[in-house]
Amino acid sequence: MSHTIKKVVILGGGTAGWISAALLKKLLGSAVSIELVESEKIGTIGVGEATIPPIQHLNNVLGINEVEFIRETKATIKLAIKFEHWKTQGHSYYHSFGAVGKSPAFCHFHHLLKRDNQLENDEHLWQYDLNYLCAEAGKFAKINSKDPILDMPYAYHFDAGLYAKFLRKLSEKMGVVRKEGIVEQVKQCNESGFIQALKLKSGQEITGDFFIDCSGIAALLIQKKLNTGYEDWSHWLRCDRAIAVPSERAETTLNYTRSIAHESGWQWSIPLQHRNGNGLVYSSNYCSEDKAMDLLMSNLEGKAIADPKIIKFQTGRRYKQWNKNVVAVGLSSGFLEPLESTSIHLIQSAVVRLVHLFPHHGVNDTLVTEYNKQSAVEYDQIKDFLILHYHVNQRENSDFWRDMRNMDIPDSLRHKIEIFKENGRLFRDQNDLFLENSWLQVMIGQGIVPRDYHPLANNMSLAQLQATLKKIKEIKQEPMSKLPSHDDFLKHIMKI
Ligand code: FAD
Repeated sequence: MSHTIKKVVILGGGTAGWISAALLKKLLGSAVSIELVESEKIGTIGVGEATIPPIQHLNNVLGINEVEFIRETKATIKLAIKFEHWKTQGHSYYHSFGAVGKSPAFCHFHHLLKRDNQLENDEHLWQYDLNYLCAEAGKFAKINSKDPILDMPYAYHFDAGLYAKFLRKLSEKMGVVRKEGIVEQVKQCNESGFIQALKLKSGQEITGDFFIDCSGIAALLIQKKLNTGYEDWSHWLRCDRAIAVPSERAETTLNYTRSIAHESGWQWSIPLQHRNGNGLVYSSNYCSEDKAMDLLMSNLEGKAIADPKIIKFQTGRRYKQWNKNVVAVGLSSGFLEPLESTSIHLIQSAVVRLVHLFPHHGVNDTLVTEYNKQSAVEYDQIKDFLILHYHVNQRENSDFWRDMRNMDIPDSLRHKIEIFKENGRLFRDQNDLFLENSWLQVMIGQGIVPRDYHPLANNMSLAQLQATLKKIKEIKQEPMSKLPSHDDFLKHIMKI
């Protein structure tokens, strides 16, 4: 349909709605007007507190001052995720945002470690990782070094409700119009099937040329109206329930997310400045709701400060994230459990993709097909990474973990595991959100030890290699003594 897009309507004011509004307005400027409809009565899902480093890019593009952001959203620093009991009961490892060691040309660092027999005991790997060292020691400050070996990428834990409020203020300042109201009816063109207007309970109609469905799990436009369909991945990612509950903050604020494996799922613990976010993700086929509730409540570190909330979900994605003149962003587009904190990032990348392919002169099949292709690849890659955590486990105490270990996995993932097992080779698929470093830490952490290393690691004598490793370890550990604690860093921010 050749129809100039002058007005975009966003349905929903959760994290997805307000990120979409702010980013689209910032990037598209006066080329389009934006109206966002949300209902305070319906509210938002109210979870989603852990992020990954690209959020810094989002905030930078939006011109957000970091200190103000940390204050307003009660944010803390996130350097890593600690996976506890995932490989076996009692074992833990980190998936940090940092790079382990320093890689010589064309040869990843871990091949040097393998040659020195250090990969057999996985604890060695992280001794070369500044993010891990700071996470374990509870330290943080921005390191101003020109040497990339001392890069310490970080993300945040934050109160998602406060972040949405923060972005709302920003969006409204830029000219986004917010409309409070419940959408009761959706008007569609008989011929094209394109959405034309949202009709509110008050009777008012919000018309638009293009619609972003940020209505959350309800998926009012992309599914209820357009019947787009859903690819179900619950045979791989079997958890389908979460119970979320906030608790009193701990005395010391961790600078990492905890992910604690349980009999039929896992528990998250996310430290914010004013409270701790907790939740249990589990499979209802393996665990009753009562049992899950008991498990979560008996494992809380602080006192619960609100009633627990039960959330049902189905892992998978819409067959098309862009259908007719509707793009689904956020939970309406699909769901991947929060194991690697990817959902908010998926919102960000969906909006960036839409900006790249924005149909200024009307929706056409080429743009839609390209958008859907890119979204599908992105979802698929993250899906494989999540399955890896579950599939490669040696836990013996439950059917859930045994079934995860024995299940059929996607060929793409099987290939990645096999090639790593053989001699530690890792390849980043095009645009995979997770770099080799992430795959490495989770593969090693879950217990895969490569049988051999790449021959490029033989390009120096063993004595030279050991001296190199020693030097890298010293460089990585050197800043530690000068860094303040994470809590002191946050206190300092609050005073600025
Ligand atoms: P919602 O927050 O549900 O917003 C939907 C909006 O649509 C609301 O404003 C609502 O009022 C509006 N709406 C719906 N129907 C109507 C109607 N009829 N009329 C008007 N308005 C309507 N992501 C992360 O990145 N990190 C995490 O740690 C993380 N943890 C999670 C834990 C769990 C258990 C779950 C389920 C998700 C988690 N997520 C996480 C995902 C994250 O919560 C979501 O991606 C994010 O909150 C975006 O949600 P949303 O805006 O799509 O939906």
